[in-house]
Amino acid sequence: MICIQCGYEIATAPDQCPLCKGEWQGWELLFAPHALDDLRAQVMGWIAQLPFPTLMEWIASPKGLRVRLYLPPHVAEGVVHSWSGMTGQHSRWRSLGIVKVQSGGYALHTSNRLPSLIASAKDSDPLLAIGSRLISAAREGHDASLRLWLLGNEDQLQEKLRSLSSYSYGTEGGVGNDTPNSWGLQLDFLRAGLFFGMLMAGISGGILFAGWFNPFAVSMFVVAGITICLASALGIRDWLAWRSIPKEVVERRIQEPLLKVAFSISEPIQLPLLAGEQFWHPIESVWPAIQKHTFPLPAGELAGLIAPLQLGEGSGLLDRAVWQEARALAVKWRWRLPAPVRRSRSARAARPVWMPCVVELARELAGAAERARSRKIALEEMEGGCFTITNLGGLGGTYFTPIVNHPEVAILGLSRARREPVWRNDAFEPRLMLPLSLSYDHRVIDGADAIRFLRWVAEALEQPFLLSLQG
Ligand SMILES: [Zn+2]
Repeated sequence: MICIQCGYEIATAPDQCPLCKGEWQGWELLFAPHALDDLRAQVMGWIAQLPFPTLMEWIASPKGLRVRLYLPPHVAEGVVHSWSGMTGQHSRWRSLGIVKVQSGGYALHTSNRLPSLIASAKDSDPLLAIGSRLISAAREGHDASLRLWLLGNEDQLQEKLRSLSSYSYGTEGGVGNDTPNSWGLQLDFLRAGLFFGMLMAGISGGILFAGWFNPFAVSMFVVAGITICLASALGIRDWLAWRSIPKEVVERRIQEPLLKVAFSISEPIQLPLLAGEQFWHPIESVWPAIQKHTFPLPAGELAGLIAPLQLGEGSGLLDRAVWQEARALAVKWRWRLPAPVRRSRSARAARPVWMPCVVELARELAGAAERARSRKIALEEMEGGCFTITNLGGLGGTYFTPIVNHPEVAILGLSRARREPVWRNDAFEPRLMLPLSLSYDHRVIDGADAIRFLRWVAEALEQPFLLSLQG
């Protein structure tokens, strides 16, 4: 079933489309901005994974900014929870349940073929630039909320740009490049068309003036020739406009996932969002009318709108109430004996035993750890385990040999992580190294299996975002 009005695929019946009724699954970002290495790169990957349509909203009040995410009702929570895997629980989304999102507003239009956010450089903060303007507008009494609609991928455009880049900066730049590509072919075709049209119009025009044949038939040829000329000339003009886009802009668009987006705003306040000319166009209802106002933007630039660069930089903008709630949620982790045992469930049996759903695991463990800490844990919860994770990081030290506790088969020990020089890319780099010590019962586990498992743990820790997706 597809909604005829908006094209939403999971509508139970055309007249029952939840999105047309304005029902979205709402989430609010509880912000504890945390300076993580390559957080933006990870957020970029996260944005590119979001389902379509998705709506992000920055709501400003005199007290600060709230960041909200609205998903279609059918979408599972996985997308949102993978955020925690990425930011290591330092910030997360709080569910708002089904939220009514429906009102008029203004849609953003741009004259730029490849628009970019005003502050889109790697070392700048679009959140700071745009968020502070929204807040100051709210302080002047405006109803300031900015919405970003993610409506699809721009794969075709990206393919086009890739071929533009290889054509323009390969053959024309003097570098030999014989790879056939659509841009080169298109230009050849347009030039040939122009030449053929001029020839046709010129010859038949001559014949017409000389009055040799039926003037009506020949004048049709003149008209056809002029039409071909005009079409080719317009095509070449369009081609030149694409060609005039600076090289670095094209290169950036090729490297990042390119999304089909639209911006809408509650009031037409002065908000320089995009580089170049832009204006706000009033619309009656935002969804699904907003789909007519899309333009391409790379996911990397959007990542800057929710990932502040440095600790505290984004937090100055954020609504205190949300910020405080995030702090209350950040539970301090301290592992103590007795260690609770996590039960496996038959539903998870299809997955290898060491690939559980991380988010689910974290949620269960949080409860069990809380009970262990308050010494309220039941005896059954500590029995029948097959594997233990023990963390001595709080005490220092490097490697140690944890002893397997029968009938368990293995135990993984974690020591304190520290920065160490590591030889990488022909130079020593300071890297955060976490010592892992795995002991296993050789009567049950093969050494190779144990090492494979340990490698998986190491890779998963290096790429927490991937881990959350696998879950
Ligand atoms: Zn609909």
